[in-house]
Amino acid sequence: MLDKLQEMQSRAIAELQSVKNLEELEALRIRYLGKKGELTAILRGMGSLSPEQRPLVGQMANRVREELEDKLAVQSRLLKKQEQEQRLVQEKIDVTLPGTALPSGRLHPLSQVTRQIEDIFLGLGFAIAEGPEVELDYYNFEALNLPKDHPARDMQDTFFFGPEVLLRTHTSPVQVRTMESMAPRLPVKIIAPGKVYRRDDDATHSPMFHQVEGLLVDTRVTFAELRGVLQVFAEEMFGPHTKTRFRPSFFPFTEPSAEVDISCVMCGGSGCRVCSHTGWLEILGCGMVHPRVLEMSGYDAAKVTGFAFGMGVERIAMLKYGIDDLRLLFENDLRFLRQF
Ligand SMILES: [Zn+2]
Repeated sequence: MLDKLQEMQSRAIAELQSVKNLEELEALRIRYLGKKGELTAILRGMGSLSPEQRPLVGQMANRVREELEDKLAVQSRLLKKQEQEQRLVQEKIDVTLPGTALPSGRLHPLSQVTRQIEDIFLGLGFAIAEGPEVELDYYNFEALNLPKDHPARDMQDTFFFGPEVLLRTHTSPVQVRTMESMAPRLPVKIIAPGKVYRRDDDATHSPMFHQVEGLLVDTRVTFAELRGVLQVFAEEMFGPHTKTRFRPSFFPFTEPSAEVDISCVMCGGSGCRVCSHTGWLEILGCGMVHPRVLEMSGYDAAKVTGFAFGMGVERIAMLKYGIDDLRLLFENDLRFLRQF
C-alpha cells in the first residue's frame, strides 16, 4: 500500500507539471484529493491492514496529502499570475479616448429669473425669508387688513382646505410672519420668493405661479426710498435705460399704494403691440405698509414706517425674454426650455 501511495504521488506531481490553466488544476485536485479521489480511496482501504501497518500508512498518506496540497497551491498562484498578465496584454485600455458626454441640465427660466431677483435685492441688503404655502386665513387675509367681509377678498379666488386653512394667494403673509417673529427689532428688510395659488387658468393665468414679496420696515422709511429701490431693481433687471412710472392704486395692506410700470422692453417707450402702444408695461404693485398691518404685527405705527412690494416672477420672465404665452413656462417642452 505504501508503494501504491508513492506511485500515486509521483504520478500526480508529473501531471501537475503539464497543467495549463486553473480549471485543469482544479480537476486534478478533485481527481486525487477530492471525496471520490484516489487518495481517499486508498485511505478507505486501510481497514484491511494489520494494526501495525495502519499508523505507517496513515502517516504516509498525510504526508502525501500535505505535499500535494502545497504543490497545488504553488501551481495555482503561478497560473493566476499568468492569467492576469495575459489579460493585461489582451485588454488594452486607451486612456486618451474621450469620455462619454452626459447631457448637462440647466435651470428653468423661472428659477433663473427668481435667482436674478434675489441677487439684486441681496445686493441691496435684503435677506431672504420663507413661509408656508398652506397658510392660515389669518395670515393670508386678516393680518393684511382684509377682514372676513372685505370686498377685496373676491379679487383673489382662493383654494380653501377649510374655513381657516387655504393655499396662500400671495407671498404677503410672509411679511406678517416675519414682522411677528422680529418685533420690535429693526430694521425688517426681507424679500420672500415663493409659489402662490389662485383659482385661475387661461393663457395669462395659471393656478400656481410665483411671486417675490419685498418688505422694509424701519424708523424713517419713505416713499422716496421705495421709488429708489424699485428703480435700481428695474435697471438691474431690464437694463440701465429702463424708466419707471408709479400710478396710484389700491391694496388693503398698503397706504398709499401704487402700480409700477417700466418703459416697454420691446419698443423702449415709443409704443408697440406688446405695450398696447402705451410705451409702458406694468410689473408690480407696491406701497407704504398700512399702519394697521404694522400694529397687528407688533410694531408701533407711530414710530416706524415701511414699504412693501410684490411682483409676479412669470410676468418678469415673460417681459425679459419676450415669452408670449404663460403656459410655455409650465409645459416643460425641452425645445422651449433649451433656449434659456
Ligand atoms: Zn412697446
